[in-house]
Amino acid sequence: MPTYDESNIFARILRGEIPNQTVLETEHTLAFRDIRPQAPVHVLVIPKGAYVSYDDFAANASDAEILDFNRAVARLTRELGVDLDSGQGFRAITNAGAHGVQEVPHFHLHILGGRNIGRMIQ
Ligand code: 5GP
Repeated sequence: MPTYDESNIFARILRGEIPNQTVLETEHTLAFRDIRPQAPVHVLVIPKGAYVSYDDFAANASDAEILDFNRAVARLTRELGVDLDSGQGFRAITNAGAHGVQEVPHFHLHILGGRNIGRMIQ
């Protein structure tokens, strides 16, 4: 796993050095609007801990952090009005490393919705 870069933009957001549009904050998790939204709903969910990518988080985060993150995602889909009960739905994706074309090296989940996102995998 690459060394975590403390100067990445999401680390700076977590330290309060850069403003963000927070949607939800819990003990271990922060969710905020993407600065370049690709859909009417485009929220990034990040752990507060220093994890580079999804596999880093899944392997090394504590049970409490993993539970908190996943429960935050479920709460967000409801609060953003894109959960299945709303009749809308959403896409959740995470990019990792070079082939995943990950721009920011702090694990984040994109939640996209508010329009038909279309198919990525045929
Ligand atoms: P990645 O390609 O790493 O999965 O996605 C990184 C995402 O972070 C992009 O969708 C990009 O628009 C978003 N982003 C980059 N810099 C900032 C920032 O300073 N603030 C916010 N809110 N989003 C950012």
